[in-house]
Amino acid sequence: MQLLISSAMLADLQQLTQAAAPQEICGLLFGREGRVSARRTAKNVAQDPQRHFEIDPATLIAAERHQRDGGEPILGYYHSHPAGTVRPSITDAECAAPDDRFWLILNGQDAAAWRATEKGKVYGRFDAIPLDCFGAKGQTAAK
Ligand SMILES: [Zn+2]
Repeated sequence: MQLLISSAMLADLQQLTQAAAPQEICGLLFGREGRVSARRTAKNVAQDPQRHFEIDPATLIAAERHQRDGGEPILGYYHSHPAGTVRPSITDAECAAPDDRFWLILNGQDAAAWRATEKGKVYGRFDAIPLDCFGAKGQTAAK
């Protein structure tokens, strides 16, 4: 299993990460079978958005409803560590449900993909998974 994202979307997220620093950005990833087809920005409603993130529950509820109604499923979450590494923090592990969803973490330059599982190797909650990009050409070929 890997996380597949378009290079354009990844570049976009790195730019948003840099623009919002020192605050963390966050949002939802949509798609199937590890392939991101869309994303949605969420408000970071954490009390200290420079150190943590919390996706606006209203955005999450709307996305869950959309999925239930046959819309594109929630593939996972993204957030930034503008002053840190792209590894999950202990707080990330404490907040993550073991729902097998993907976590994309960015710092403005690097990005890494993780999966929230019951017995992950990182803080007992995350497993590292490959992050792959596809360009506009690959996207066209797949259709
Ligand atoms: Zn984090």
